[in-house]
Amino acid sequence: MHRQKRILVTGGAGFLGSHLCDRLVTEGHDVMCLDNFFTGTKKNIAHLLGKANFEVIRHDLVHPLFVETDEIYNLACPASPVHYQFNPVKTVKTSVMGAIHMLGLAKRVRAKVLQASTSEVYGNPTVNPQAESYWGNVNPIGPRSCYDEGKRCAETLFFDYHRQNRVNIRVVRIFNTYGPRMHPNDGRVVSNFIVQSLKGEDVTVFGDGSQTRSFCYVDDMIDGMIRMMDAPDDCIGPVNLGNPEERTIRELAEKIITLTGTSSKIVFKDPPVDDPVQRRPEIRLARETLNWAPVVGIEEGLKKTIAYFRSILSGQLI
Ligand code: NAD
Ligand code: UDP
Repeated sequence: MHRQKRILVTGGAGFLGSHLCDRLVTEGHDVMCLDNFFTGTKKNIAHLLGKANFEVIRHDLVHPLFVETDEIYNLACPASPVHYQFNPVKTVKTSVMGAIHMLGLAKRVRAKVLQASTSEVYGNPTVNPQAESYWGNVNPIGPRSCYDEGKRCAETLFFDYHRQNRVNIRVVRIFNTYGPRMHPNDGRVVSNFIVQSLKGEDVTVFGDGSQTRSFCYVDDMIDGMIRMMDAPDDCIGPVNLGNPEERTIRELAEKIITLTGTSSKIVFKDPPVDDPVQRRPEIRLARETLNWAPVVGIEEGLKKTIAYFRSILSGQLI
């Protein structure tokens, strides 16, 4: 077993955060799960509540926090467009104030701090695939900007605290990730298509469905994040984490319709403002520096995710 560390996971009751807590608790670390339960839920972490090496802190990250910790994974931030556009000012505050507070804490207690950044820092990219060296094409004043620019500013803060205060940072840029515990109503494409298919409703493709995304299964993503935290101190990133298999949204809809065996039909809706046209991670850096690459294929991952949503919809879970 690894040396036991005290680890703070902000956003720990969310989709990715709860899977990360699972892994860290299983590895024997002392895990503090911080959340304000905006998009996360206690049900995601209910199975961990009785464990001696797990505790929950109800806290809003726009306010400062002081705890003793060795490592911080900073995930607190709504991630789906529906959720982050619900209160855009709060989204910016969470990203920016949250980063300042976690970097300040890391500086004070000499903790290592990892930022869950996003492929959205590349905006609507003019290059494909996106490598870490690409600076992005982001609208600063649109409906997605609260998230995109908030995350970009958080990256700036991470690198400035590193240069100015020698804080030990890690920045990962996460590309679309899916799996069990996604919020059924968060509007993200994988959860939407599965829930619609399982209910026999129309599957809503926005635009003509030719826009692309690359979908990574949650277990692969958590593995990449932990490898990044454990990497040597000169490996600060940013490092892309995602699955480089690119597919159109229409292909995804057809695949989910086939895998669920539904009689649902695809319907086309107006595309959202500033919807990125293409997205695929260049993951050479993660392969070379972290010896990481995704191993779960789309069918295997979708089958597990479909099984999860089936159990939710039949009332067995959540
Ligand atoms: P999520 O919405 O399930 O989790 C976010 C968690 O943060 C929730 O539990 C929420 O309650 C909590 N939170 C939000 N605002 C907070 C605040 N002010 N104070 C304390 N807690 C707060 O989303 P997720 O998919 O698990 O994403 C986790 C992180 O990963 C986010 O930072 C997101 O930007 C990043 N990310 C995710 C993806 C993806 O595809 N899932 C892609 C890129 C980046
Ligand atoms: N999308 C869609 N139907 C839906 C939800 C999303 O066609 O019901 C599209 C959306 O327009 C985008 C892609 O799927 O092109 C991914 O959307 P999501 O909100 O999951 O993530 P993001 O845009 O942040 O990558």
